[in-house]
Amino acid sequence: MSTVMHLPTNRRAFLRLAGAAAVVAAQPIRSVAQAAQQDFVASSRAAAAKTPIQVTRLADNIHLLQGYGGNMAVQTGPDGKLLIDSSYMPAAPRILAALEAISKDPASTLVNTHWHVDHVDGNQPMHEAGFQILAHSKTRERLRTPQSIGLLHLSMPAYPQPAWPVTTFEQTMTLWRNGDRIHMEHYAPAHTDTDIFLHFQHANVLHVADIWFNGVYPLIDESSGGNIDGMIHASAQALQLADNQTRIIPGHGPLGTRAQLVEYHAMLSTVRDNVARLKKAGLSEQETIARKPTAALDAKWGKGGMTPDVFTGIVYRTVRV
Ligand SMILES: [Zn+2]
Ligand SMILES: [Zn+2]
Repeated sequence: MSTVMHLPTNRRAFLRLAGAAAVVAAQPIRSVAQAAQQDFVASSRAAAAKTPIQVTRLADNIHLLQGYGGNMAVQTGPDGKLLIDSSYMPAAPRILAALEAISKDPASTLVNTHWHVDHVDGNQPMHEAGFQILAHSKTRERLRTPQSIGLLHLSMPAYPQPAWPVTTFEQTMTLWRNGDRIHMEHYAPAHTDTDIFLHFQHANVLHVADIWFNGVYPLIDESSGGNIDGMIHASAQALQLADNQTRIIPGHGPLGTRAQLVEYHAMLSTVRDNVARLKKAGLSEQETIARKPTAALDAKWGKGGMTPDVFTGIVYRTVRV
């Protein structure tokens, strides 16, 4: 039994997330930033509590779940449910109801794609619902300790122990579950230093995490080791795994195709090259932003709330020249 709803995008939630980043980054005044950081987590949690979970069937036993946080997916079957990411904590009742409607299989494993609040905030209620949490070892480290995201002027306290992953890996891990082979692998630092992808090799479904914001300039969390070169490398790695039939789940935005990921990879490479050229010539970050090195791409990619100027600044600061 499955509940299937086809919805074009989950764009509004992403716009609000990225919009908050742009607004906060544009006003680096301490009091404004502190107010904004409290608002960001509180308002995101409040919005998540009210946002319905949209369910889309991707394969016989894999469904995409989209709410206010990062894109989730669940694999069902006799070995129990394998859930990818847990969104914001107040969304947990809606997520659990959606999972129950998809199948009656027991809870088994929750995999976190990386440590960010919009992917892990619901870990504790999912743990209480019976999921064992699995992630990269650095995700566990970052959830056990206070963290900050400079771009958002965001300070996160450590999560309580029930929210921590209890199984961790370093480079790769394979799960044989529900008739499929699930290959998981850690990317070199890209969006953060905790990012992994999950490839359901039989079903031909790939969750690539936040290395892909489908259709828009991405957030790159330089406070957590993220950098533009890593984003380009990671998206090339994902392209190697995908064929034209692969259903590719981005961290944010609508379900994607290989052709869309090719375009995104090309966009990242172009921005990188344009910014690196100016940085190498000795221009400062502000001078580089003033030259509008993304201008030719902004009509297509700049509508996401991660503004061209903010994105150019991230690329400038993290690019290796
Ligand atoms: Zn995210
Ligand atoms: Zn993220």
